[in-house]
Amino acid sequence: MSTPIGAARDITLRALDVLAGADVLVAEDTRTLRHLMEIHGIALSGRPLIAYHDHSGPGQMQRLLALLAEGKSLAYASEAGTPLISDPGFELARAVAEAGLPMTAAPGPCAAICALTLSGLPSDRFLFAGFAPAAQAARRSFLGELAGVQATLILYESPKRLADLLADMVTALGPTRRAVVCRELTKRYEEVLRGPLGDLAADVAGRQIRGEIVVLVDRAPASAATEEDIAAALDEALQTMSVKDAAIFVSQTLGVSRKIAYRIALDRSKE
Ligand code: SAM
Repeated sequence: MSTPIGAARDITLRALDVLAGADVLVAEDTRTLRHLMEIHGIALSGRPLIAYHDHSGPGQMQRLLALLAEGKSLAYASEAGTPLISDPGFELARAVAEAGLPMTAAPGPCAAICALTLSGLPSDRFLFAGFAPAAQAARRSFLGELAGVQATLILYESPKRLADLLADMVTALGPTRRAVVCRELTKRYEEVLRGPLGDLAADVAGRQIRGEIVVLVDRAPASAATEEDIAAALDEALQTMSVKDAAIFVSQTLGVSRKIAYRIALDRSKE
């Protein structure tokens, strides 16, 4: 079940029903869930409240699966927002699905979707990339892989690393792409900064940023490269790279879809 990312009243009525009715409550952070239940006047009434995250180990997961198999209803909440979205829950959901046990979701707040809604960037296709790696070399190659993606990019970031992330985005994606920084969504100091990546990077570099952050970037501009341009670039790249690496490299440098670059690279490698 999803829980608020800021404003406590963003809880859904169905989530409240689930919290009130579940036999067992399971939470990434039991204190946070207890607090949320207190705010909404839902008593624990002696029901078990169990801590679970993806590193809880197989024993804890087996315990939860056994409770489900006994016919108990379990409600799982991560610390905030939607479980599994840069939060624990995936291993559990997969195990429940594989065991063929009944499962449903009570959807609700999610910072990525909230930010996309406010961004003013195209929402027809988006790629949620989670947190970029903290180490600079890994972050740069991560951003390089995203450079040619034909979708609005959505990333989570800590306020400490925001300036570094934006600076690397300017290098990997160019200074002119439209970008948006959403801060403290649904909270008192909610703020949305919009502008070309270069301007946002300069703005953030000169400020002390606090709070929770989502960064969004517009898709790569449609490439003017023709099929012949792509083939020529691939022929050169294939002299030193594998088909996969050449396709990634050319899709990034020419701003073309990786799928198309891969198809042409495969054809060229067979010739
Ligand atoms: N599961 C959550 C969701 O559905 O959005 C995300 C959990 S992740 C551990 C926490 C990150 O989400 C934060 O570091 C920030 O990037 C983003 N986030 C969560 N709440 C936010 C908010 N109120 N405003 C902006 N970003 C937020």
